Amino acid sequence: MQERDVDIAVIGAGTAGLGAYSAARKHTDSVLLIEQGPHGTTCARVGCMPSKLLIAAANTAQDVRNAAPFGVHPEGELRIDGRKVLERVRQERDRFVDGVLRSVENIEHDNKLTGRVCFESPHILKVDDHTRVTAKRIVIATGSSATYPDAFQAAGDRLVINDDVFEWETLPESVAVFGPGVIGLELAQALHRLGVRVRVFGIGGGLGPVSDERVRDYADDAFNQEFYLDPDATTETIELHGDSVAITFIERNSRERLTEHFDYLLAATGRSPNIEHLGLENAGLTLNDHGVPLFDEHRLQCRNTDGSQSHIFIAGDTNNELPVLHEASDEGHIAGNNAGRFPETRKGSRRAPLSIVFCDPQIAIVGLGYAGLKAHYDDKAWASGEVCFEDQGRARTMRVNSGLLRVYGEHACGRFLGAEAFGPRVEHLAHLMSWALQQRMTVAQMLEMPFYHPVIEEGLRTALRDLNANLQLGSAIAERCMEHGPGD
Ligand SMILES: Cc1cc2nc3c(=O)[nH]c(=O)nc-3n(C[C@H](O)[C@H](O)[C@H](O)COP(=O)(O)OP(=O)(O)OC[C@H]3O[C@@H](n4cnc5c(N)ncnc54)[C@H](O)[C@@H]3O)c2cc1C
Repeated sequence: MQERDVDIAVIGAGTAGLGAYSAARKHTDSVLLIEQGPHGTTCARVGCMPSKLLIAAANTAQDVRNAAPFGVHPEGELRIDGRKVLERVRQERDRFVDGVLRSVENIEHDNKLTGRVCFESPHILKVDDHTRVTAKRIVIATGSSATYPDAFQAAGDRLVINDDVFEWETLPESVAVFGPGVIGLELAQALHRLGVRVRVFGIGGGLGPVSDERVRDYADDAFNQEFYLDPDATTETIELHGDSVAITFIERNSRERLTEHFDYLLAATGRSPNIEHLGLENAGLTLNDHGVPLFDEHRLQCRNTDGSQSHIFIAGDTNNELPVLHEASDEGHIAGNNAGRFPETRKGSRRAPLSIVFCDPQIAIVGLGYAGLKAHYDDKAWASGEVCFEDQGRARTMRVNSGLLRVYGEHACGRFLGAEAFGPRVEHLAHLMSWALQQRMTVAQMLEMPFYHPVIEEGLRTALRDLNANLQLGSAIAERCMEHGPGD
């Protein structure tokens, strides 16, 4: 067993871990980045990038299908070459992974180590069976992994998760997707558009991150015009039959009991933090009911069992708070800086909440979202406005006129509070709105901004006008709001 003594150990070389490493190096040269392998990050290998590559192929196929109403007739029949689709996904994916690998190669040999980390005590980490690392401060950045109910094991080797999809040699004939969350929706629609027979099963009625019922119902209808999706499905049995998985379920519309065979069951039922083998019970930390350390979201600092501030920090998906890439990166930097400064930690600045689902139409949540606002504010404190994209000028020109955008604002001070959107390319509108939110703009101030013609942003203007008309503005309270901000 080798012995190492370092100022800071970073566990996990994903987006958060790499951010933590580079921030920590600004404080000391004695930083050790430990990765169980393989390097390359979840984002580049099996997450954001390969999924967007598959979606790009799918949307290209859809554009061809939708060309005729424009008077454009691509020659011959639409043919999708599954091998070629997946070859391109992997080729481009490998380029993104190579970019990460190059940055890891640039890290000095003595500053990185390969192996699975397990806490032996609050300052001592065992790395596989080859090294014991004593670290003054530690950043946990071990990411998350797909999880699914035990019942799915009945699908045997036909059970797959997102990681497996990108390794397929070619596209299968059929896939049953369980979980219409962010990952499930993106992959299910992409596979459907690439000619795969898809059925999507959920429980509880949820659809991606949408919590505004009006947006959810609109999206549910729109998806169901394209492929079968039951967000509150009754699935009776899952059985392996030779090379296929047989699923018995109650059909959403007819309420008939059906048994259908699929090549694969794709489990997209959520992700949970990679803490299983980390030995957190030896780290002296207060853990929540799921075994995840309690931490301060501004400093990313964990709490000791005696309630004092720990020398251990936690960043990225593993803290189970905001499992998206830009937050993982920010958190890594905050955690790495605070590990470097410890015990003099500082609050890191956080951005306005923003999440996007790259289905089509896209889904975006800006700010706390409808459910978050309901939880944080009195119902009388805020109002909503909306626009339906069906008659939106620019959206109609492009035949992408489907969707509903709901925006929220605070009475009295008129401050913009966020939005839930299902609509054409709302990734762009969502950025505008999140920037306005972070700048603490009022709805009136947003309406003073330029809107070119004809653009989809004019739809946002319509929604903001509607919201503005619904806001009850009061000058005395408005002044107070400007001083303290909403919810202060
Ligand atoms: C299919 C899919 C699509 C996605 N699409 C998007 C998107 O479009 N936009 C977006 O913002 N986000 C997206 N995400 C989420 C985003 O990828 C994650 O939020 C982000 O990658 C998390 O980074 P991380 O550093 O926390 O974890 P990771 O990148 O997973 O890094 C964790 C690292 O820790 C290592 N590790 C784990 N345990 C140990 C141990 N005990 N010892 C040593 N090393 C260990 C792992 O091997 C891993 O390399 C997507 C995710 C998936 C799965």
